[in-house]
Amino acid sequence: MTHTDAPIAAVTAQLRSVLASDRVIDDPTQLATYDCDGLLHYRVTPALVVLARDARDVQLTVRTCAEHGVPFVARGSGTGLSGGALPHADGVLIVMSGFREITSVSARDQRAVVDPGVINLNVSARTRPEGYYFAPDPSSQQVCSIGGNVAENSGGAHCLKYGFTTTHVLAADVVLPDGERTQLGTVAPDAPGYDVLGAFVGSEGTLGIATQVTVRLTRTPAAVETFLAGFSDTDSAGAAVSAIIGAGIVPAAIEMMDALAIEAAEAAVACNYPAGAGAVLVVELDGPSHEVAVELAAAEQHCRDAGAFEIRIAADDEERQSIWRGRKSAFAAVGRISPDYIVQDGVIPRTALPEVLRSMTALAKERGVRVANVFHAGDGNLHPLVLFDERVPGQADAAEETSGAILDLCLAHGGSITGEHGVGADKAKHMPKMFSAQDLDTMQRVRCAFDPTGISNPGKVFPTPRLCGEVPGKRSAAHPVQAAGLGEVF
Ligand SMILES: Cc1cc2nc3c(=O)[nH]c(=O)nc-3n(C[C@H](O)[C@H](O)[C@H](O)COP(=O)(O)OP(=O)(O)OC[C@H]3O[C@@H](n4cnc5c(N)ncnc54)[C@H](O)[C@@H]3O)c2cc1C
Repeated sequence: MTHTDAPIAAVTAQLRSVLASDRVIDDPTQLATYDCDGLLHYRVTPALVVLARDARDVQLTVRTCAEHGVPFVARGSGTGLSGGALPHADGVLIVMSGFREITSVSARDQRAVVDPGVINLNVSARTRPEGYYFAPDPSSQQVCSIGGNVAENSGGAHCLKYGFTTTHVLAADVVLPDGERTQLGTVAPDAPGYDVLGAFVGSEGTLGIATQVTVRLTRTPAAVETFLAGFSDTDSAGAAVSAIIGAGIVPAAIEMMDALAIEAAEAAVACNYPAGAGAVLVVELDGPSHEVAVELAAAEQHCRDAGAFEIRIAADDEERQSIWRGRKSAFAAVGRISPDYIVQDGVIPRTALPEVLRSMTALAKERGVRVANVFHAGDGNLHPLVLFDERVPGQADAAEETSGAILDLCLAHGGSITGEHGVGADKAKHMPKMFSAQDLDTMQRVRCAFDPTGISNPGKVFPTPRLCGEVPGKRSAAHPVQAAGLGEVF
């Protein structure tokens, strides 16, 4: 038995005595199915998996982990693209996907109370008959969970107008890293005191686990108009985006796809986008009918002025779905044109779109790989897909290098290393490029206030396995990194 086996063995025995036997998994073959999230190139098999069904399961598990100093990681649907739900080899993976009741919906109060494992799209499906929907709409919305959305502060096509998840979360019940339960936020408007819920949303599972979420519902708009605009290149499509926003129009969504992304989508779902297009924009406007009609005419004109050679306005819901089909399937579709790819996620000011897209192509070319682009153009939120073939020696490294260089490019233009996919395990190393040591220390102090022993999703977000002992405040137990001989308190 190694020094790390003992605590996990004790945790396993203890959890077996308090949880139903089918909820505690330690069979190596079954454990292996949880070894990664949507970011496939990082894989770690957890020591134990707990399939949580309610807050009690989560609390018992976290409390037991805290007692033995064993790390734990929450997993929603496992669609994250930054390795946020990557397990800890000596820790417990707490799977929340079976925890999926919509407890209540109140149209009058414009809110719903949901379990963390509820699938994003199911909230809208349940509330649509009452005239409401849940606005944050990641492209993965058919499968990703509300808990994952909260942890990642997820975005989506319609976040340009409606804001990211943080705008749509009113309160959350949380199991803190010591096993205590608390409620963060309140449904009362403008609550006094610190915005602790605000800190929790987007904290990627490092501050505890959400066991229930009260979400804000958005009224279904009276009118929706969607059009597809075909351009010869990304420069003119980018200019159209700037012109639309610059004119004071805030569409519900403006999405861009370049030639490679269009090629992939055509191969996968035959979306019939304009032939020969070097870029397309999907523009959606919603709101009161008269306002939408005026904005539609103006946005269409801005696209024509910027060089759109074809514009198709969806005549009905079926045509709207058909326009969106290409965009929504694009990530998966890229697998048709490349055996491997890295999905990058960065933000730039949208006025820099044409220049940054050109530079990205050049960066990829220098390294012998290709980049396909499909992204939330209105937010300047880029999702370059760096295509490569792992079987070709050196290509995986070239793709990884290109992917990192793209983030540097975003930072050089005043952007960020992540738009909506989170930092996770993948981008922790890039954090010091964006934040000073003092900034990171401040974040670390916040983390330590919730999790002084560092057992809640360790190794994510922060660039080094920093310990609470490095900042003022006493640690109550050895950090797992310390216990494993990998780090020390100075
Ligand atoms: C094809 C595809 C398209 C995507 N498109 C988008 C997009 O448009 N916009 C976008 O923002 N993202 C997108 N994503 C990324 C991903 O779907 C989102 O980050 C999503 O919110 C993750 O949800 P999940 O349930 O899969 O979480 P997981 O991947 O399981 O976990 C993500 C993080 O949340 C933590 N976590 C999970 N549940 C809880 C909980 N209850 N309490 C505390 N922490 C928790 C985990 O520890 C981890 O750090 C896409 C992914 C794919 C595969």
